[in-house]
Amino acid sequence: MTTIVAFHAHPDDEVLLTGGTLARAGADGHRVVVVVATDGIIGEHTEDRLNELRTSAAILGVHRVVCLGYADSGHGPLLYDDPPDRTRFVRAPVEEAAGRLAEVLREESASVLISYDANGGYGHRDHVQVHHVGARAAQLAGVTRVLEATMPRELVRSGYTPRAQITHSFNVRGYARKKRAALAAHASQLHRGRSGRIMRLIVRLPLPLFALLLGREWFRTGA
Ligand SMILES: [Zn+2]
Repeated sequence: MTTIVAFHAHPDDEVLLTGGTLARAGADGHRVVVVVATDGIIGEHTEDRLNELRTSAAILGVHRVVCLGYADSGHGPLLYDDPPDRTRFVRAPVEEAAGRLAEVLREESASVLISYDANGGYGHRDHVQVHHVGARAAQLAGVTRVLEATMPRELVRSGYTPRAQITHSFNVRGYARKKRAALAAHASQLHRGRSGRIMRLIVRLPLPLFALLLGREWFRTGA
């Protein structure tokens, strides 16, 4: 049995790029821990996204959820000031955030860290920060296996990782039902603007179609 720690920026990120892989690892008897850098809230606490994350994690068979306690930095052109009680993740010193993540890695004797590619996928500033913090935390805790969640750039046209650099491609169609249910658990996100409309469409897809579209997950071995 190995312990896999998946580091993500926001609640719901654990599902789209890694949900099937985490569910498969759990089913294979590995210990799976999800660490999120932020609570996914940009302004004041009006919703409990961590509760949604805990529901999603339970569906995926994740054993433990940890939140590092930063605030969402947002993806718009403007980087807002910090909320009164939290620092936006992108403003956190890499060394400080990596220290917190390394503590979890040591506590769990993790042998694999899942993080993000250098582009932070599509380029959200918090996702880019996950890449830097993840790489440093792995160094600090002596975790030598880092898998960076990504997609083939050729599929999405920009960001992510060129197909030639992808080292792992997992078929997770067998976990499509869990992945779809985990995504639906992030109920507050289903009603938020344009991305909410897309998420609603995705969770309503018939299972075979969902499995076809979201039944593969990709990783690149981190440096
Ligand atoms: Zn995110």
